[in-house]
Amino acid sequence: MGTTDILVIGAGSAGCLAALAASNHGSYSVMLVERYGFAGGTSTQMLDTFYGFFTPSEAPRKVVGGLPDIVVNRLDQLGDIFLRPNTYGAGTGVNYNPEKLKLVWDQLILDAGVKYLLHTHLVGVEPVENGHYCCIFWNKSGFHKIIAHRVIDASGDADFCHLADFEYELAGDLDPMQSLTTTFRMSNVDLQQYQTAGGNQMLSEKMEQAVSSKAYKLPRKKGSVHEMCQTGCISTVAVKVTDKKPLDPWQLTEAEIEGRRQAFLYEKFLREQVPGYQGASIIGTSVQIGVRETRRVYGEKRLTKEHCLNPEIPDDTVFLCGAPIEDHRKGQPGQPETVWQYIPDTGIYGVPYGTLVPKDSKAAWVVGRCFSATHDAHASCRSMAQTMSMGQAAGTAAVISLEMDVEANAIPLKTLQSRLLDLGAVLEIPKSTADITRNGWSNNLTSFN
Ligand SMILES: Cc1cc2nc3c(=O)[nH]c(=O)nc-3n(C[C@H](O)[C@H](O)[C@H](O)COP(=O)(O)OP(=O)(O)OC[C@H]3O[C@@H](n4cnc5c(N)ncnc54)[C@H](O)[C@@H]3O)c2cc1C
Repeated sequence: MGTTDILVIGAGSAGCLAALAASNHGSYSVMLVERYGFAGGTSTQMLDTFYGFFTPSEAPRKVVGGLPDIVVNRLDQLGDIFLRPNTYGAGTGVNYNPEKLKLVWDQLILDAGVKYLLHTHLVGVEPVENGHYCCIFWNKSGFHKIIAHRVIDASGDADFCHLADFEYELAGDLDPMQSLTTTFRMSNVDLQQYQTAGGNQMLSEKMEQAVSSKAYKLPRKKGSVHEMCQTGCISTVAVKVTDKKPLDPWQLTEAEIEGRRQAFLYEKFLREQVPGYQGASIIGTSVQIGVRETRRVYGEKRLTKEHCLNPEIPDDTVFLCGAPIEDHRKGQPGQPETVWQYIPDTGIYGVPYGTLVPKDSKAAWVVGRCFSATHDAHASCRSMAQTMSMGQAAGTAAVISLEMDVEANAIPLKTLQSRLLDLGAVLEIPKSTADITRNGWSNNLTSFN
């Protein structure tokens, strides 16, 4: 399939942004390869809310900007977003129509001139001369080689780093792994009847009652059940599958089956017990079960719980995060289903560039949920506003490394930061508070957008 200057593997929120940033800056060829038939990864496979743009405090700040804003703006122009408070405390989310988001990703990628290939799976990596990589892909027409001068691994599972022999921590090896979740969507929900009957508070009580009375064996009492952009539809993040390793295909198969079983258990509970749901039914389960973490690469730097809980903006910051540590681990009976730890003091920390550079890497970056972080830090820094910011930073860094002919870990940070600021990225704690009212998105945009 030839040669490309910059190859991005995986078109999730991190990979799409990496490709957009790489093509935005220079005249280098950029190729984005994705194994499924649409872009977005988790953002379109299973979700409908971007978290991480706003901090969860009483005086919320908008801590992400630049190209991620463009994605939301496009959705806003289509009339397909609203802001909503998180059910349990991750701050305000940007709710979007995930089907429209598939279109928006396509349009942005094509408009940027990125060479975009779907239904194609990375299966091998061979080093070649000059520190470049030969990436081997499989699709229905066979095996194909692409020679890449720079590679950004945005596969979520760090498939490139695994195949290229970079070191990583496997979720579950040092700390309990986050659980897996099949999300599902229901239509024909009477939201007015639901609100009149007490809304989320009523739902929470009914879930509690259903579990304690053993009438329904719901795996979680506090799952998120929330309104979607599509009228009369709700999205549910409540399934909880534990003790299954997502990189083992047999265990992943079992997890998919168990996730679907739980989804229909919730449907039964909602229809039988919750006002407004009597005529509702599931219209879709997620394209695959949601995987929160697998491989986390060891980078030149590693984000740790200590960084998150002693918040600072280090000199090598390339994006900000204010999301709490939100750990959906298995837990023991009587323990909370989800462990929350909020970022103290300013409530915002800066994430160093080195967390996006695999250790000793010369021509490769790692972005998204497989970036370099410990289990706890990852549980804070994995929302999509942050994974998009990682893509923005790595895509920009890859261009600089080509322009200056320098290795990934030798990028002049001031140059990178200045390019990111030019794009509209936020690298300092914003002074003003954000408008987080339902239609307030556009009130938070700066002249960059
Ligand atoms: C159940 C669940 C609920 C969540 N809730 C929220 C939420 O409400 N809001 C929020 O902001 N965040 C949420 N998160 C976290 C967030 O969604 C993820 O951390 C983020 O989307 C990860 O983005 P990514 O681009 O790193 O990976 P992904 O979105 O997983 O993208 C990786 C892409 O790479 C492709 N790929 C993988 N392997 C290959 C290969 N070998 N070759 C080619 N392509 C490949 C995949 O198909 C995929 O498109 C949730 C996560 C889960 C699992």
